[in-house]
Amino acid sequence: MPENYYIHLPFCRSKCSYCAFPSVAVDRVPEKEYLKALLSEFRFRRKLWPGLTLPLSTLYFGGGTPSLFTPSFFSEIIDFFAREVGFVAAPEITLEVNPADVNRDKIRGYFNTGINRISMGAQTFSAAGLRLLGRRHDAANISQAFNSLRQSGITNISLDLIYAWPGQSREDLAADLDKLTTLAPEHVSAYTLSYESGCEITRAVAAGEIVPVPEPLQLEMMSLVEDNLDKAGLYRYEVSNFSRSCIFQSRHNLAYWQLKDFIGLGAGACGGRRCRRGPKQWVERYCNLADPEFYMRHLLDADSKLAVDSSEFVPWSQAETVNLSGVFAESLMMGLRLRQGIDLASLRSEYGPDMVAALLAKVQLLQNEGMVDFDESRLWITDSGFYLTDSIIDRLV
Ligand code: SF4
Repeated sequence: MPENYYIHLPFCRSKCSYCAFPSVAVDRVPEKEYLKALLSEFRFRRKLWPGLTLPLSTLYFGGGTPSLFTPSFFSEIIDFFAREVGFVAAPEITLEVNPADVNRDKIRGYFNTGINRISMGAQTFSAAGLRLLGRRHDAANISQAFNSLRQSGITNISLDLIYAWPGQSREDLAADLDKLTTLAPEHVSAYTLSYESGCEITRAVAAGEIVPVPEPLQLEMMSLVEDNLDKAGLYRYEVSNFSRSCIFQSRHNLAYWQLKDFIGLGAGACGGRRCRRGPKQWVERYCNLADPEFYMRHLLDADSKLAVDSSEFVPWSQAETVNLSGVFAESLMMGLRLRQGIDLASLRSEYGPDMVAALLAKVQLLQNEGMVDFDESRLWITDSGFYLTDSIIDRLV
């Protein structure tokens, strides 16, 4: 049963130009109502999954912009879980913050709730880049916020970087990496800009107003990111994630990549658990609809309406079942993103030797091309294949 919880807080002050996350721009965050709805959803999930009793190992507040919420919001939730299911001895409790929202008092308040890891969306230190991405903060906010976090006692800070945005040169990226590594975060998530449908930046590309960075330059940029972060002592442990040492790897995200069970609460949040009956295996998964008004309206209505005895159907969440071969494909897709690759012994014990033998037969060609390698215990993507992870995974599943 899940020990990893994700809480989605889908409110922002304004919408960034590249954003495809479930979030809405608001002037006022409905903190009290949303809190009530989240706790109500937890009670509902527990009725559906009666074994939901394990103490939490990781708790992640993502968004949206969680730093629009006050410290007391988080202390109420953390205290609630402490009472209901408890926490393991050293849980990882992460909060995503926007540099524009951070001041010393607020950070101290967050820290006092038990939050012990901060993930801050720096994205770029370039004024032109921040404008293009539609971010609310400026470069000075990033350093000020980072210093406030340190002074408040946060010893586990992750910074997000977006690169290969239209107009960014190799030199611009090098300058970003220089500024970012000077701050010495424990963890970095670095992503190339992607163009999702419905986003402002995608519309601007389609209209010919801006031009994406060409692919050869993107590949060069990827290797520049890895080289610079590596020199700064941040090693790559996942396609887009770097950490100073094993202890600073994101435990919460490792749970996703290793396809562990997890609970997601909030509008737009998803969760899933693995089910077994004899040799039969499948995954039950759900995704809540993204509209926070709709979510709150239904969950605030009354807990009584969330009775699950007669039906598991609720209008604000969609459920699906993934069969064994689907779960196997997902294990590969997620596990191969990790530099350490996939543990073959556990793959055999979970899916049987035949499925693994068929996989290793497919791997042979990729191994000859130097993209993938394996030994008795593990299957992994090689250094030269790591930039082509998505296409390698496509060929395997
Ligand atoms: S702050 Fe994050 S969630 Fe909000 S609009 Fe920007 S990218 Fe999207």
